[in-house]
Amino acid sequence: DAKRCGRATYRIFDSLRRAAELNTLLLADRIPDALAAGEIQLYYQPQFTIGDRRLIGMEALLRWMPPGGAPIAPDQLVLAAEQTGFIAELGEWVIHEACRQISQWRNQGLETVPVAINVSGVQFLRGELTQIITKHLEHFRLPGRSLEIEITETIALDNTEGILRELHELRQAGLGVAIDDFGTGFSSLSYLRYFPINRIKIDRTFVNGCLEFRENAAICKTIVSLAHNLGCQVIAEGVETDEQLDFLLQQGCEEVQGYLLAKPLPAEAASEWLKEHCHARTRSNRDRAVTV
Ligand code: C2E
Ligand code: MG
Ligand code: MG
Ligand code: MG
Repeated sequence: DAKRCGRATYRIFDSLRRAAELNTLLLADRIPDALAAGEIQLYYQPQFTIGDRRLIGMEALLRWMPPGGAPIAPDQLVLAAEQTGFIAELGEWVIHEACRQISQWRNQGLETVPVAINVSGVQFLRGELTQIITKHLEHFRLPGRSLEIEITETIALDNTEGILRELHELRQAGLGVAIDDFGTGFSSLSYLRYFPINRIKIDRTFVNGCLEFRENAAICKTIVSLAHNLGCQVIAEGVETDEQLDFLLQQGCEEVQGYLLAKPLPAEAASEWLKEHCHARTRSNRDRAVTV
């Protein structure tokens, strides 16, 4: 009986899995047209220092809003694009679009902090990532430090040699390199010391519930001290409450990103936000100058 039940359950899961795969392929088919039609955009989420709430960067995040349909989650979009190989075009579009936006902010005299872009492992495997990025930076006359590249731990699992070379090239060109979703990738810590990274991002699943669960608190704590021992900056993602912020500050984590401080904003709103933020900053600097 248990056997029959098991087989039936397996059959259900198997057909669910196949439906999901089919869905991914159908989705992948629509991406090139959606990109051409402007349905795919970048949103920008500000990143801050915890201590003095200084803006330190913006993470660019993909958004797909099909007209009349429900928004499609970026992880789903990226997964679909990876399966057809279109991720190369999509990824290059992200690089180009981020550079274009930075250039526009610079021309408007808005404070420019590095924009972090997420890069898929597939983009790395082609082995021309630095050339592609440099091409777009040069097109907009931007220095390398305008961009930070976010990679996940699992990227390092295959072709470590090639990826190491690529990361060194990126750092030499002035770009930052961050490890995203740190702690979720099951990868060995030993490779970390060879990787030219300057920032570690604590995954939001650890930040979430860091006050409720001892284990999450311990993991956050450990990642902060690991980062510091490696000479890296450490940023916590997905910070939603003041209590989480206080906890992270106590642990010596210096940077945060999360809904508590700012949500990802469409380009227009991000520009407005930057205008107000820069204005408030120059104003408070002036006030400080007067009182000193
Ligand atoms: P990620 O790079 O780890 O991005 C952080 C995710 O956390 C984003 O989800 C962001 O909207 C969300 N987030 C930020 N603050 C909070 C918070 O306080 N609470 C909660 N619950 N969530 C928060 P999003 O935008 O849905 O992106 C999901 C993932 O899709 C990204 O995770 C990244 O892995 C991938 N992705 C997004 N854009 C790109 C891209 O341009 N290229 C590639 N390859 N992947 C991308
Ligand atoms: Mg990221
Ligand atoms: Mg992340
Ligand atoms: Mg993620």
